[in-house]
Amino acid sequence: MLQIDVLTLFPGMFPGVLGESILKRAEKKRLVRIAVHDIRSYSRDKHKKADDTPYGGGPGMILTVQPIFDGVRSLKNKNSKVILLSPGGKRFDQALANGLARQKHLILICGRYEGVDERVSKALVTDEVSIGDYVLTGGEVPAMVLIDAVVRMVPGVLGNKESAVSDSFQSGLLEYPQYTRPREYKGLKVPQVLLSGDHEKIKEWRMKESLKKTKKSKRKA
Ligand code: SAM
Repeated sequence: MLQIDVLTLFPGMFPGVLGESILKRAEKKRLVRIAVHDIRSYSRDKHKKADDTPYGGGPGMILTVQPIFDGVRSLKNKNSKVILLSPGGKRFDQALANGLARQKHLILICGRYEGVDERVSKALVTDEVSIGDYVLTGGEVPAMVLIDAVVRMVPGVLGNKESAVSDSFQSGLLEYPQYTRPREYKGLKVPQVLLSGDHEKIKEWRMKESLKKTKKSKRKA
């Protein structure tokens, strides 16, 4: 089973995303266990403060080191990967998702405001992960993106109906175009080959379309 612990200042953002569809089923089937923890609950400050102004001046607030240290220490075991969501981290992609799905325990730290005291990266974090070259207001949405992409790759989470084998990026190619009923809608027709029942021809057509789509998107095949 994959255990995921999330450290955040905004735990209320998670239940909607984690409580629906495939992620909910994965927890029910006991293939993953996801727990969301409020960073403030680890704060030793009498007002449960977990941020402060930056040394050296500058705008905004920085997440303080003590609550995150204590939070990670209380959750960590010998199998844990401690991941800080950070715009400067390693770019998240399918290969990284596949690798993280084989881990036993992930601790995800969500930054906020101007970011996180650097001592967290230096002394606690095993990996920094970015979901792209843009800046979001916090690490919560990136953590949800990571959880979604990782959990669907945990063996047993997707049934045959939702198999990941032909998904975009798994083979280095984008997925071929998909169609469903009706055969024609407002003059827009389903390609004849998909209705032919000829599985060899369908396979060939799908490979050709995958290559075309990948080339058009300027990604490497
Ligand atoms: N001042 C920081 C900088 O310039 O790098 C940006 C801080 S950002 C407003 C607050 C938090 O959001 C970050 O600490 C990080 O946890 C999260 N975050 C923002 N963009 C992200 C991205 N592209 N990928 C992963 N995490 C991100």
